[in-house]
Amino acid sequence: MTETVRTRIAPSPTGDPHVGTAYVALFNYALARRHGGQFILRIEDTDRQRSNAASERMIFEALRWLGLEWDEGPDVGGPYGPYRQSERSAIYREHAERLITSGAAYPCFCSADRLKALRAEQRAKKLPIGYDGHCRSIPPDEARRRVEAGEPHVIRLAMPREGESVVHDLLRGEIRFANAQIDDQILIKSDGFPTYHLANVVDDHLMGITHVIRAEEWISSLPKHVRLYEAFGWKPPVFCHLPLLRNTDKSKISKRKNPVSLNYYRRAGYLPEALLNYLALMGWTMPDEREEFSLGELIENIDLTDIRLGGPVFDLTKLTWLNGRYLRRMPPEEILDRLRRDLYSDEYFLKILPLVRERIDTLEQFAEYSQFFFAGTLEYDEGARNKLVVKGRTPPQAAKIFRILLEESLDPLMEWDAAHLEPVVRTACEKAGLTPKELFMPLRVAVTGRPATPPLFDTMEVLGKETCRRRIRRAIEVLRSMK
Ligand code: GLU
Repeated sequence: MTETVRTRIAPSPTGDPHVGTAYVALFNYALARRHGGQFILRIEDTDRQRSNAASERMIFEALRWLGLEWDEGPDVGGPYGPYRQSERSAIYREHAERLITSGAAYPCFCSADRLKALRAEQRAKKLPIGYDGHCRSIPPDEARRRVEAGEPHVIRLAMPREGESVVHDLLRGEIRFANAQIDDQILIKSDGFPTYHLANVVDDHLMGITHVIRAEEWISSLPKHVRLYEAFGWKPPVFCHLPLLRNTDKSKISKRKNPVSLNYYRRAGYLPEALLNYLALMGWTMPDEREEFSLGELIENIDLTDIRLGGPVFDLTKLTWLNGRYLRRMPPEEILDRLRRDLYSDEYFLKILPLVRERIDTLEQFAEYSQFFFAGTLEYDEGARNKLVVKGRTPPQAAKIFRILLEESLDPLMEWDAAHLEPVVRTACEKAGLTPKELFMPLRVAVTGRPATPPLFDTMEVLGKETCRRRIRRAIEVLRSMK
């Protein structure tokens, strides 16, 4: 390879750091290291509503915990910054202008109502859903005048209407798409922010990315991206779409069936090296077919063309088994170090102590009163089981209340502290038609296994999101099994 290999991971900071991000980052990282190139972290925060700083911070922390250090990124800088898309608006705008000038893109003034009516009509006639190109015929001068007069608009890509787009993926070879099936993608939204497609292509080019290694779900966007490269007159990078991780039932990996947050794996005491080893096995095999290897060995041997297609199954049991093997090989001093670093740091003890101090008279009693801060999933005894049931509801109804609380209120919460938890849980009570008292006890028992604990929200803050969600999931299972 003559040019320097430059790869990137481009997460959107819209939730908990995802195991799929680590999987994709791993292959990007390994390829860059293999060729002495650079691995870049770019934050794709063009979705202003859903992006948040807490999520971004957690992505940094999780990737660092895994040891996938980046050479350039929002927090470390680099020659091609800024590396956060929200700070690059002017660049995208200017590039969109270029496309308008060359006729490869056009302003679209269609109102939300018109688009809605269009979709309804397409649905009724069983036609493919998409933009009909209405504003494509507006003469450029007139369109410009309307833009300058401040009329609300988006900018769309003028996709060729006939023929085929032929794109190339390293693992799949040529893929063909009928152009008629491809929508005139919005490039700049009415709020002036770019969509993923424009920002992604412009940045990959300007940042000198040579290999785009990302999840399979982006293949359908590839013809739009390739069209953009063509319209700008740029050479596209090598594209390599990794097979998606699957649940054991082969569906796309999801948090209902598998923990997907990297914070979970860290909190539950998985070793980063074991997790990376396991992720590398998802779709790739060492030349000698060894199952256990280090990141260094992956780097020495990585060859993207060896990646197997087909849905790799992310099997928690196998990962746990592998983790155990790593653990048993580790010198006790090292294990102690890991325990202190990831699970039981002084900082963690210092958060627990103010909460249990009131209840203990001797140091020894600390063990008894703080037990639930150290356990993973809880077993609920008979008394606790009964208290999990929300008053006046059946166990399955209570399970449903917990599920909704978890999915709608707790999962989306990025700032996991008492000040944020309390209002969210109170609102959830209102929605469920419960008084706070009616939900607080079952929730307390679900997350601690006990009816009497330090203040609920402080306790939940210290336990952390991953432990709480894991225990609530367990409580839901227990409730569902109750008659
Ligand atoms: N922001 C996209 C994501 O989070 C990046 C996809 C890509 O790598 O192009 O999946």
